[in-house]
Amino acid sequence: MPTSVCPECEEEVYVDSEMEQGDQVSCDECHSSLVVVGLDPIELDLREESDDYSDDEDYESQDYEGDRF
Ligand SMILES: [Zn+2]
Repeated sequence: MPTSVCPECEEEVYVDSEMEQGDQVSCDECHSSLVVVGLDPIELDLREESDDYSDDEDYESQDYEGDRF
């Protein structure tokens, strides 16, 4: 299994051999969300929290549930 180095804690991170660029992995050591930015060699970068804007959808579904009460 190929490995790379976590940019956060510099521990070895196992990367699935079927991973592709842009795929996300988690560091077992520090549990950071990482994204595969290179494959040869495998490079990992921290996934920015601000990229995760699916929160908007959660907010709407909460609002919907609120209407039922
Ligand atoms: Zn780490």
